[in-house]
Amino acid sequence: MTVFLIFLIVVVVAAGWFGFRNWSKRQVRKSLLVTELSDRQRAIVAQQVPLTKKLPEKFRAKLEGKINVFLNQVEFIGCNGLEVNEEMQLSIAAQACLLIVNSDTWYNRLTTILIYPGAFKSRQSEHNGYVITDREIVRTGESWSRGPVVLSWAHAKQGAIDESDGHNVVFHEFAHQIDDLSGRTNGIPILNKSQSFAEWGQVFVKAYESHVQNVHAGRKTVIDAYGAEGLEEFFAVAVEVFFERPVALKHNEPALYEQLGLLFQLEPSEW
Ligand SMILES: [Zn+2]
Repeated sequence: MTVFLIFLIVVVVAAGWFGFRNWSKRQVRKSLLVTELSDRQRAIVAQQVPLTKKLPEKFRAKLEGKINVFLNQVEFIGCNGLEVNEEMQLSIAAQACLLIVNSDTWYNRLTTILIYPGAFKSRQSEHNGYVITDREIVRTGESWSRGPVVLSWAHAKQGAIDESDGHNVVFHEFAHQIDDLSGRTNGIPILNKSQSFAEWGQVFVKAYESHVQNVHAGRKTVIDAYGAEGLEEFFAVAVEVFFERPVALKHNEPALYEQLGLLFQLEPSEW
C-alpha cells in the first residue's frame, strides 16, 4: 500500500511538473508574441531586411512578436570560426518570420541554425543502382528535414538586401522547412483552411510541368530554373519570387500566385 502511495505521489508530482512546464512555456511564448523589438533591433531589421519596411502596418507588431519567439527558440551556431552577432540573428529571424507573419504556420521543430561565413561544402550521396557515390558540393544554404537550417551568412545577408531580384537563400531554405512540416518535403505544405488540396495539387503540378518545359527549351522564366529539379525545389524558388518579385509572378503565373497568397495569407504584390 505504502509503495503504491509513493508511486501515486511520484506520478502526480511528475504530471504536475510537466503540466506546469508546458504552461509556463506557453506563457513565455504568449508574452514574447506581444513584445516589441527595441529601437536598436528595429533599426537593424529595417537595414538588413529592407522588404520588412514595405510590410503593411497591420503586420508590423506581429512580425516583431514572431521574431522574439524565434530568437528565444533557436540557437545560432557559427561555423568555420564565424562569430554570430545580433545583426546575423535578427536578419535571419526577420526573413524566416516574414514568410509566416500572417499564417498559423510555425517552425515547431527548428532549434538550431548553423551559419558559415560564406558558401560551404556539403556531402551528398548519389544512388545509382547498387552504386552509392559520395561527393562534396558547394552550397549557400541547406534545410534538413526535422533538423537544422544551414546558411552562408554572405549569401543570407545579400539575399535580403537585394530585396527584388527574386533570389533569397533564407526564404528558400525556410520554404523547405514549411514544406517539411507536413511530414515530407515534397512541395505540398500544410495548407491554409481556406485552401483545397486538389486545387493546390492541380495548380502546382501544371505550373511545374510548364516550368520544366520552359527550362528545357532554354526560355527565360520568372521562377528560377533550379525549380525544374523537382516539386520541392519548385515550391522553394516560387516562394522566393512570391516575396521578391510578386508583381511579375502574379502576371506570369496568376493561379500559382493566388495559391501562395492563400497559403501565406499575404498579398505582397500590393506592398
Ligand atoms: Zn532547395
